[in-house]
Amino acid sequence: MAKNKIQFQQGLSLQEFLSQYGSEEQCRNALFQWRWPHGFRCPECGHDKYCTLKSRKLSQCNRCRSQISVTAGTIFDSTKLPLSTWLLGIYFITQSKVSVSALSLKRLIGVSYNTALLMKHKVQQVMKERDDSKPIASTFVQLDDAYWGGKKRDGKRGRGATGKLPFVAAVSTNDQGHPLEMRFSQVKSFSKEAIEDWANKHLCAGAQVVSDGLQCFNGIDAAGFNHKVIITGGGPDSVKIADCKWVNTIIANVKRALHGTFHAISKKHFSRYLAEFCYRFNRRVDLRQLISRFSYVALRTPPIPQRLLKVAELCG
Ligand SMILES: [Zn+2]
Repeated sequence: MAKNKIQFQQGLSLQEFLSQYGSEEQCRNALFQWRWPHGFRCPECGHDKYCTLKSRKLSQCNRCRSQISVTAGTIFDSTKLPLSTWLLGIYFITQSKVSVSALSLKRLIGVSYNTALLMKHKVQQVMKERDDSKPIASTFVQLDDAYWGGKKRDGKRGRGATGKLPFVAAVSTNDQGHPLEMRFSQVKSFSKEAIEDWANKHLCAGAQVVSDGLQCFNGIDAAGFNHKVIITGGGPDSVKIADCKWVNTIIANVKRALHGTFHAISKKHFSRYLAEFCYRFNRRVDLRQLISRFSYVALRTPPIPQRLLKVAELCG
């Protein structure tokens, strides 16, 4: 049988990673290149001439004299960790097939549990902002409602169950029905308004959506998109219906992976965990470029307010 090209692609080996990003200097140079690919620009005054203050690892603008760290104003702002530790963490998070818990990350990169958890949340936030910044690119979209957690099992698919976190699951496919992109978004509830908002934000013009006709999915029509309803009946049989095959399969995969890797995920952080799966899935065809692509975006993502990162709960 022919090997699946995506599954068997060459990733970036740990050895290759270390040869490119093993030292602090290599990492600083790489971050500099990714932040200013067309040469340094002072964030304060826009000037392009600078000198390097070696002792303090800063670039000083020749015009306004501002001293700029390559990480200032980015997701890495004010970090006390070596840049090489950051990139190693990013390496493990982006190259893993499923997900790396904070507990595993702590051991892999040699930091405290809380530091590993903070790093994970920051990395996930970058992933979330990146994917949410543009609508799903292709027009065929399979849509379903899904839930995470909760104690009570009432109803086949958990609809209306208490304590569950609802999320919209969308998978786009190409003309041949192969999956291209996934977008899983936590929502407050499955109301028509919530779905209409979701559609306006995440669907591209001309999108053709297939769903199982749950009432709230009228929101897709309300937002002006083409919407086909398939009655699946839910449960394992729904996976067999071609129009919904991929969204059902991928929901099951993500849930399995979340159960297998994480102890508990709080409501506050759940959307970022979903985003992590989406980000990796959407870039699964090009593993070798993930470090530079991720870092490029991270350097354009502003620092996250501390309140969003409170990590009292055991999440990993
Ligand atoms: Zn300046």
